Amino acid sequence: MAVERDYYEILSVERTASGEEIKRAYRRMAMKWHPDRNPGDAKAETEFKVCAEAYEVLSDTERKALYDQYGHAGLRQTPGHDFTRMRPDDIFSIFNDIFGGGGGGGARGGRRGPVRGYDLETTVEIDLIDVLKGKDVDVAFSRRDVCSSCEGSGAKAGTKPIKCPTCAGTGQVAQAGLGGMFRMVTTCPNCRGRCQVITEFCQECRGAARVPKRRNLVVKIPVGIEHGQVIRVSGEGEPPPPDADAAGKGPRGDLHVVIVVHEHETFERIEDDLARTREISFSLAALGGMTAVETLEGTRTLDIPRGTHHGEILTIEGAGLPTLRSPTTRGDLRVAVVIRVPNKLTGAQRELLEQFAKTENNPDEELRPAGKGVWKKIKDTISGS
Ligand SMILES: [Zn+2]
Ligand SMILES: [Zn+2]
Repeated sequence: MAVERDYYEILSVERTASGEEIKRAYRRMAMKWHPDRNPGDAKAETEFKVCAEAYEVLSDTERKALYDQYGHAGLRQTPGHDFTRMRPDDIFSIFNDIFGGGGGGGARGGRRGPVRGYDLETTVEIDLIDVLKGKDVDVAFSRRDVCSSCEGSGAKAGTKPIKCPTCAGTGQVAQAGLGGMFRMVTTCPNCRGRCQVITEFCQECRGAARVPKRRNLVVKIPVGIEHGQVIRVSGEGEPPPPDADAAGKGPRGDLHVVIVVHEHETFERIEDDLARTREISFSLAALGGMTAVETLEGTRTLDIPRGTHHGEILTIEGAGLPTLRSPTTRGDLRVAVVIRVPNKLTGAQRELLEQFAKTENNPDEELRPAGKGVWKKIKDTISGS
């Protein structure tokens, strides 16, 4: 490639993206530039190949590390496929898992078994409370579906595709090669191997046999789901491509639903635990007692031990989140105590405090830092325990 473009930019992913994120990004881009979806579009085909090149590098731990450190120069010793010289069919076979198992190349690759349609991807945004309670989400997405006017034939109502006159319906033509010494059999350029041609196009799909259709589904989000996880809804992807299965009766691809969990303004999720701060008065911290703390779903009592310090982490058991693996057991709520110091004192309060101060013998006592350090401490505490 003349200009060496950044692989992360090509796939529209962050440099910190995980392997799974890179895979999803590639699937998304490959669908966007897919030759079946952009027939005759040279730019789309080039992009399709460029994306394959980017994915080949970024999905290989060793080559990704070289690329991350040295850029394109780092890859010269370990060249990959030259996708620019490859046919899309060959790219489908290399990344078979991306294109939904047997799908991808349609009938053109001559694979065994029924051809499967493409997988699709959509995103669902939920709140933290939905992680706790689970949710049925309405999902609306668009997919290329069998045109109902022509039932996938691409021909105008009342007409039928005719046997291709160029190849007499065989899908192949013989050409003389090397001054007539050989006869080479190639795919018929008129019908592109489909054996049939359409005389009058269907007005709905203009011969494409597929039209974009909206689809609405209810997807069950299980409790304990994590941000970035994917729910696979089997058989809700696209029907097989028209070249392979015009009527689209073969197995459909799947729909991948990527879960985005919104950040909560009070609670931070740390695996199955939740963390929050809670302000208390310095007298409560010193004397000990009870206070009410809002959890994700209600209110619980928090026992403040006598002599609680600023930044100390107290635990309310079972007020965290369930996990996908064990929906009935729950994590804890970790409460970082923030000690409130009054801005203003009344005359009586000041007098009392001054009396108290006189009894104190450690005037250089230091408070623990609050803010970001608190979260780090919570994380360290949890991962250390
Ligand atoms: Zn049609
Ligand atoms: Zn033909």
